[in-house]
Amino acid sequence: MGGSIRQQMDQYLTDKKDDHVDFLKQLVGFDSRIINDGATGKEGEIQKFIANKLSEMGADELDIFEPENDRIKDLPGFNPNHDYTDRPNVVAVFRGSGGGRSLLINGHCDVVDTGNESLWTSGPFSCEEREGYLFGRGTADMKGGLGAAILALEAIQKVGIKLAGDVIFTSVVDEEAGGNGTLACVERGYRADGAMIMEPTGLEVHAANRGAFLAEFKVVGRPVHASLKGFGVNAIDKAFKLINALYELEKSWLLTKRHPLLSNPTINVGQISGGDGASIVAGECTVRFDVEFFPREYDVDGQEFVVDKNQVKQEVQDWLTRSCEGDEWLCEHPVQIHWYQDTSAFQTDLDHPLVTTALDSIKRSLGKVTLSGFPAGCDGVYLANIGRMPVIIFGPGRIHQAHTVNEYLEVKQYIDHIKATANFIIDWVGIAGGVEIDQ
Ligand SMILES: [Zn+2]
Repeated sequence: MGGSIRQQMDQYLTDKKDDHVDFLKQLVGFDSRIINDGATGKEGEIQKFIANKLSEMGADELDIFEPENDRIKDLPGFNPNHDYTDRPNVVAVFRGSGGGRSLLINGHCDVVDTGNESLWTSGPFSCEEREGYLFGRGTADMKGGLGAAILALEAIQKVGIKLAGDVIFTSVVDEEAGGNGTLACVERGYRADGAMIMEPTGLEVHAANRGAFLAEFKVVGRPVHASLKGFGVNAIDKAFKLINALYELEKSWLLTKRHPLLSNPTINVGQISGGDGASIVAGECTVRFDVEFFPREYDVDGQEFVVDKNQVKQEVQDWLTRSCEGDEWLCEHPVQIHWYQDTSAFQTDLDHPLVTTALDSIKRSLGKVTLSGFPAGCDGVYLANIGRMPVIIFGPGRIHQAHTVNEYLEVKQYIDHIKATANFIIDWVGIAGGVEIDQ
């Protein structure tokens, strides 16, 4: 092949475009759904396929292992009662010649359920291509990114580039129900100088994600016949009072909290249940809500500080307790919040070389780049907060395309992601012998 290395790479990717689309069709063709919120799952077959591919690519080490709950149960974010029989993680290590920075690439192979399949225009696992888009469960979240990263690594090899740093490729299970797959990889000791996750960011570089709590509280009342309402206490009415209090807190957050990459923290009341019928003053009401929070914030003087998630919980509880104190009944029957799920937040320093290298490299590959934050939770928190690695999220497709009927991915974004990722890997881990690459 003639021309510069980058030109050779471009030519190779152009020649291989149809094969690369076929590869994603194969990945989507595997029904790798989690079942019962991850209690079990069907990731076994696709992981065999991916392990095979990584082996053919000459991985120096291939580690295929089922997550063991006993080994990860004490780590923050662990989700209990999931069975990993025939649901292995696949880790492939490609050793560099030495002297370069290492990169851990993380993608999940599981997908969420398909919902009402009669609403899909084509089968969720058939991956039909129509007018430049691929349709199917997992195209955006995140077999597109997972496949693209594998092909990026393959492209580097095919063009004949020998890398200096190690690349650790991890295809994990059970991300959609919490992240035990990645937790097991981190517990097993897989680390690198930087990590990339291919969740759908629309080819933006995301260096942070918000955290989220799920919580509930129960309000008790004094049930009586509706005709005697004044002699009872309606738990639904009292719950409304506290819901309004939560939204007052949310409003104060909207006015005081800010982050350069993330949209503001919110409180969303997502479920209420209570009462026994129209003719009865409600004796009980349960309110379930979600609290989104930042990894870092700015104080009134503009000084950045790291958010302590326990303080966020305390602030919400204190706010509700004070609201109860202003009400005679609630003062005697205060509510206690039960926090039943949490997803942490993470942030990589925006001037970290992983972030700046990715921005420079992707801009050169694609002509433009945007730095932003991921609105949803993802496995980045485990890599960043437990693995202590700098993390970026960079993938094709957008989050609003995920988890929906007719999930789709634009073919161009997928192809662009292969190109940008190949160039980013080269720029981050370097070329063997310290060869300067032509730009
Ligand atoms: Zn995902």
